[in-house]
Amino acid sequence: MSTASQEFVISPPPQASIAVAGSTKKFPVRRVWCVGRNYVEHIREMGNDEREPPFFFSKPADALVPDGSTIPYPPLTKDLHHEVEMVVALKSGGRNIPTDKALDHVWGYGVAIDLTRRDLQIASRNIKRPWEIGKAFDASAPCGALRPASEIGHPKKGRIFLKVDGAVKQDGDLEQMIWNVPEIINQLSQSVELAAGDVILTGTPAGVSALSPGHKLECEVEGVGTLTVTIGQPAK
Ligand code: MN
Repeated sequence: MSTASQEFVISPPPQASIAVAGSTKKFPVRRVWCVGRNYVEHIREMGNDEREPPFFFSKPADALVPDGSTIPYPPLTKDLHHEVEMVVALKSGGRNIPTDKALDHVWGYGVAIDLTRRDLQIASRNIKRPWEIGKAFDASAPCGALRPASEIGHPKKGRIFLKVDGAVKQDGDLEQMIWNVPEIINQLSQSVELAAGDVILTGTPAGVSALSPGHKLECEVEGVGTLTVTIGQPAK
């Protein structure tokens, strides 16, 4: 009898993970955090107050899906949106991490899409309900292979863009982030204890738009990585 079958009453779920570029080893994921409203032009396009500080929400780790996936158009929505974001993957953590020590905890970086059921997110917001129904659904976090900071450093600027069927929809630069990566880690670690395996999606530039089955999404963060996924028919 294996250790797992002795310890648990059912088989434990698989460890969530993200691919690592050029390696057969994967990055194991503990929690997925997301930053809301971190690029001014996206705050403006959503009609929100750009003077408010950014804030955090989360997605389940099993919402991560790899590069090359076909993602079934999710249920309950008529307004599925893409939000391309740089991902920060932590190799260690702590509470109240100072800004000047924050990058010591970063293992690497990647590119992801914060898929959003916009109609459900806005409906929840308007009646002061939580955002999970709009943000934390199955396959809502496609993520490309990570690259270690030991190879690429800690990107502070660089083009971040997303194309739908070859047409550029989102096109920004990391230097447009209102809160930079050290500030995000500092702020989030005041709210929760961060740990190895935590990943943070750092917010999206302007240009979000509605998706349909058949759409091909190609994203890149310059110097960091790429991600390509296709939206498929709804799951039967
Ligand atoms: Mn987002």
